Amino acid sequence: MNPDSATLLDSLQGAVGSDHVLTDADLRASYEADWSRRWHGEALAVVRPATADEVAAVVRACAAAGVALIPQGGNTGLVGGSVPRSHAARPQVVVSTLRLRDLEPVDLLAGEVTVGAGVTLAALQAHVRPAGFGFGVDLGARDSATIGGMVATNAGGIHVLRHGPMRMQLVGIEAVLADGTIARRLPGMLKDNTGYHLPSLLAGSEGTLAIITRVGLRLVPHLARRAVALVAVDDTATAVSLAGALRSSLPSLVAAELFFDEGLALVLRRGGGERPFRDAHPAYLLLEVESRADPTDDLATAIDAAGAVVRDAVLASDASGRDRLWELRENHTEAINAEGVPHKLDVALPLGRLAEFVDRVRAAVEEAAPGAACYLYGHVCDGNLHIGVIGPPAEDEGVDSAILRLTIEMGGTISAEHGVGVAKADWLEADRGVADVAAMRAIKRALDPIGILNPGVIFRD
Ligand SMILES: Cc1cc2nc3c(=O)[nH]c(=O)nc-3n(C[C@H](O)[C@H](O)[C@H](O)COP(=O)(O)OP(=O)(O)OC[C@H]3O[C@@H](n4cnc5c(N)ncnc54)[C@H](O)[C@@H]3O)c2cc1C
Repeated sequence: MNPDSATLLDSLQGAVGSDHVLTDADLRASYEADWSRRWHGEALAVVRPATADEVAAVVRACAAAGVALIPQGGNTGLVGGSVPRSHAARPQVVVSTLRLRDLEPVDLLAGEVTVGAGVTLAALQAHVRPAGFGFGVDLGARDSATIGGMVATNAGGIHVLRHGPMRMQLVGIEAVLADGTIARRLPGMLKDNTGYHLPSLLAGSEGTLAIITRVGLRLVPHLARRAVALVAVDDTATAVSLAGALRSSLPSLVAAELFFDEGLALVLRRGGGERPFRDAHPAYLLLEVESRADPTDDLATAIDAAGAVVRDAVLASDASGRDRLWELRENHTEAINAEGVPHKLDVALPLGRLAEFVDRVRAAVEEAAPGAACYLYGHVCDGNLHIGVIGPPAEDEGVDSAILRLTIEMGGTISAEHGVGVAKADWLEADRGVADVAAMRAIKRALDPIGILNPGVIFRD
């Protein structure tokens, strides 16, 4: 180890205690590879601060040494932004936020709560429920994904059609800037027009502008009665128009998820379980409604009213039946990951073009990677499709490029909810245009002049 590194490690140990500076390769390993196994790199150390002051001390030490900081929450991100870069220009330190896990009491009058950035989504949900509240964002990685990571990626998930993404849940924030100062606006207020809104700026910043340490969140009423339906249809166009119609005719609708028969077959092959219908169908729409009173009849009536476009349907209002239907959708990500190292894309299209995109993207994948397996699923009302391709080697960008090119050509966005990360940094300008990217780079330079916060993420380093 060179003398500069030894001095930095001394400073880091002084900041967070030697137990929380991991330098041993075995201890670092799980922080150095991402969930998909596609992205990995080596860190000088993993540091685990427990307070904003400790984060600030870590940032100051790394800034003085010119060492890059890689913020990491639950490490469930899917675009390579939470782990060290494999070809980094400078040494890197992973800053794990998992010890920032304070849960402050729910503010019953405001319907808000302030929590540490390292609190998992599941822990937040469990914390607010006894007070009669739920949280507007929910996603399959809820047991590991942290609130700080979800703000940093502006996570979306399954309830965006009802409550919007993370950006829309933010009322306040505390974050450590690149020079080690702590910016704090907590608990924050929903109505606060005093200049630039830092929570919004940090939402989707992917660890490139600051390290988020605490977050003030608005809550939503917890509606305990739920029902879920799985509906079989002939094609994407039918699923899109049915979901669109239900959005207005079924006010209790909170989720509308799309998947296809090849994905369903994979989920059943990997996880076991019965087919939900006797026959296979090309496309499936999973619908969830929630209300104070039992919404099952409303859901059944709405599906009946859709008529013959519904080829088959199954409904569940008990918890285990609902979970079984949700597993058919939520287990897609893990089932695809179990097939090999996936090429994962997360795009959104104008809804009117989603069906055409589904046909064209399958053809584009086949052309770029003949014989590759291509799985599509997503949040249909948001025009958001996840695409998992198994076959091409992890470092082969051909299939990713084909999908992203088609997305931009059809007026879509290359990242609906996972972020840009390192995976799509080369495509940012093609999606956002020169002027937008110049404005973003100016913000980055102003807040992080020496470029130590997550270099290589969003912008190519
Ligand atoms: C099974 C599965 C299902 C998923 N479903 C969805 C879904 O439906 N919708 C969706 O949007 N995403 C989904 N994801 C992706 C992922 O869960 C989200 O991106 C989540 O927000 C990441 O949170 P995290 O704590 O794991 O962040 P990490 O993976 O640790 O980090 C993600 C990014 O945020 C930065 N970051 C993390 N914490 C901080 C912080 N405190 N301050 C500053 N920067 C920080 C990191 O540097 C990195 O760039 C899914 C992932 C999996 C594995």
